[in-house]
Amino acid sequence: MFENLSDRLGGVFDRLTKQGALSEEDVRSAMREVRVALLEADVSLPVARQFIKAVEKKATGAAVTRSVTPGQQVVKIVHDELIAVLSGEDDPGELRIDNAPAPVLMVGLQGSGKTTTTAKLAKRLKERDRKKVLMASLDVNRPAAMEQLQILGTQIGVDTLPIVKGEDPVTIAKRARTQASLGGYDVYMLDTAGRLHIDEELIQQAADVRDAVSPRETLLVVDGLTGQDAVNVATEFDEKIGVSGVVLTRMDGDGRGGAALSMRAITGKPIRFVGLGEKMDALETFEPERVAGRILG
Ligand code: GDP
Repeated sequence: MFENLSDRLGGVFDRLTKQGALSEEDVRSAMREVRVALLEADVSLPVARQFIKAVEKKATGAAVTRSVTPGQQVVKIVHDELIAVLSGEDDPGELRIDNAPAPVLMVGLQGSGKTTTTAKLAKRLKERDRKKVLMASLDVNRPAAMEQLQILGTQIGVDTLPIVKGEDPVTIAKRARTQASLGGYDVYMLDTAGRLHIDEELIQQAADVRDAVSPRETLLVVDGLTGQDAVNVATEFDEKIGVSGVVLTRMDGDGRGGAALSMRAITGKPIRFVGLGEKMDALETFEPERVAGRILG
């Protein structure tokens, strides 16, 4: 995650900090390089532009250029601005799973890593938060998807709702709720059907389930490797069904990380977790400060 961007920025800031005095032109020229690095990392143009503008405004004043360590001050400004672009005032932090049984709705396109992420989150809730979790697949179109969740459940020791053929997604969701209540579960996670593209049926199905169970969290799973497309998918899902957060998967394969940098600024939605591999433990919470630190190396 972010290796390419981190290398590029490292080069620019090394030069800047080694150079004793800095003129405004030095700062501007460094920022031009930062802008190119951001765009090469697939950060969306308006976000990169806004970012550079904000940094330049703070970094070209006399307080910085005439200070004893101007380069380091510029790096600090970039660091703070990265945190600003990655976070929001209403950052929810941990999953809201009070009032048991709390429904968590998982949505996203097919292949985004939705089922894997459902199981990863369930494992985390079970092991870290000591929660009793029930998982249910609502993918009535693909029996293999239901079985996949069941297999993962067995692997991680989390219960799955028994599969009943011929039920529609809303009926399954309601059955999950009943079982979660009767069985004393803290959380029930609903893994909705995915499709290759966003279409009417996909959205309608997710909206019907949402209306039936009023989820505490609606998490959108998107493939981080798809860069700006991931941000577009998030915008559309949020407009159509409303999401409370985003999980970016496959960040282990993304040295650029543009989707992570643009997501909050464009969609207004927080990234809550990142997927960093196929294994059930390869999930991290998304913490803007840590991410900014990682980007700046
Ligand atoms: P779904 O169709 O959205 O439910 O997608 P799946 O959960 O079946 O995942 C599709 C493939 O992506 C599987 O082979 C997963 O192991 C893989 N996958 C999911 N998340 C990640 C991740 O964070 N990193 C990597 N490298 N692979 C992932």
